[in-house]
Amino acid sequence: SSYRLPKEESVRLRRSLIGKNVQLFYKHEPLKIVRAHGQYMYDEQGTEYLDCLNNVAHVGHCHPHVVAAGSHQMSLLCTNNRFLHDNILLVSQKLRETLPKELCVFYFVNSGSEANDLAMRLARAHTGAIDTICLDHAYHGHVISQIDVSPYKFNNTGGAGKPEDTHVAPVPDAYRGIFRDMDHVGEDLAALYASEVDKLIAGIHKKGRDVCAYIAESMQSCGGQVIPPKGYFQNVYNSVRKAGGVCIADEVQVGFGRVGKHMWSFQCDGVVPDIVTMGKPMGNGHPVACVATTQAIADSFSDQGMEYFNTCGGNPVSGAIALAVLEAIDNDHLLQNATQIGDYVMEKCRELQNKHYIIGDIRGRGMFLGIDLVKDRITREPDTLGTKYVVNRLREERVLLRSDGPFNNILKFKPPMCFNMKDADRMIATLDKIFTEIEDISTVHKYNADIEEREKYHFHPTSQISVKPTSKSKL
Ligand code: PMP
Repeated sequence: SSYRLPKEESVRLRRSLIGKNVQLFYKHEPLKIVRAHGQYMYDEQGTEYLDCLNNVAHVGHCHPHVVAAGSHQMSLLCTNNRFLHDNILLVSQKLRETLPKELCVFYFVNSGSEANDLAMRLARAHTGAIDTICLDHAYHGHVISQIDVSPYKFNNTGGAGKPEDTHVAPVPDAYRGIFRDMDHVGEDLAALYASEVDKLIAGIHKKGRDVCAYIAESMQSCGGQVIPPKGYFQNVYNSVRKAGGVCIADEVQVGFGRVGKHMWSFQCDGVVPDIVTMGKPMGNGHPVACVATTQAIADSFSDQGMEYFNTCGGNPVSGAIALAVLEAIDNDHLLQNATQIGDYVMEKCRELQNKHYIIGDIRGRGMFLGIDLVKDRITREPDTLGTKYVVNRLREERVLLRSDGPFNNILKFKPPMCFNMKDADRMIATLDKIFTEIEDISTVHKYNADIEEREKYHFHPTSQISVKPTSKSKL
């Protein structure tokens, strides 16, 4: 059997053995997923779910080529990279072919957080400065250095607020940000948002300090699937470099061809970062991540004289897996698929928008889309409760699609890249059905109240009871 414990027991043990704030989806009725294949996941009863959110299983869950490469290497050798081994060299060569020529030195680590932490060490070594600019609502990782540049964490419940050497620029969001398309018709939004970064740079200088780095995702995930206006990154990169800082592109979520037309999301903006961080999709679920940088920055780092060692980073198994992922992206034509299916989903979402008032905005590139749900299309007031309803109802219909953004009102579509036309039709038809239900607001209130009650029942710290029977017993 592919699972060992009855689900009630898993819930009970999770509550007692695992930290209570460790994130869990669908707390009112957690999903126990025991296997997956391609874009489908299966629970302990064999029920199939369509995975529209898993950007880690990039080339498809349990891709046979990746599984074979990993298991074969595991049977040969898995050790740290203080011995010569070809796998990280082959991965580096292959990554180098996909990147601008300036980005030619690679470091291997185990997670996106580690990659961003190392990126900041490199930036500090190169600039001698520490002041860092990030975007509002950004998330760059769970380690201390990254919480410090993640307003999504430090400004939220449990956060300690903004550190003095962090400077937060507004999200360059033309729909929901501080400069909106409707208020600035005919103006250059890219320049307006970039001028906010200029102000931060001036503020740093005024304190007699220097700029170390500007870090941002090329398309912002946690901030609500935001596509910055064309020219924004060019303006910002110019300013940051003029001030002596380096530009870090966090491609942990948006890299490896998700945008379809390019391998890296920053390429859509025609910029060349000084440091690029990669993670999540790189190992298709296996922990492997990477930092790519320029020769000059790498030299500044090594000139400090301290050796860099990372026990599991870039071990032969991680290397074999990362190489197989890159090969699968090519072999399965996943960039073309991202463009084709992404465009199709976008078109179908526009049809839904004509039909359902709740859809305020749809934005995206390739297999990275955000659907912004609103109560009012004029004021763009976010529909947080409606979104909660949609997300939980989707799950009942066996479609896994979740929400994000500061108001949790943006549906984020970022599925395994093998997502196909049939899957798209299934997701759209389900959304259509649920958006129709939502027209009756009392249904939403009643449903959400029930979910909240059950969430308390399951994972409230004082609750002693393991599993309350659900009102919809088919789950
Ligand atoms: N950067 C971004 C943009 C991310 O979304 C994440 C993870 N959600 C990270 C960094 C951190 O990666 P990890 O969880 O692998 O440490």
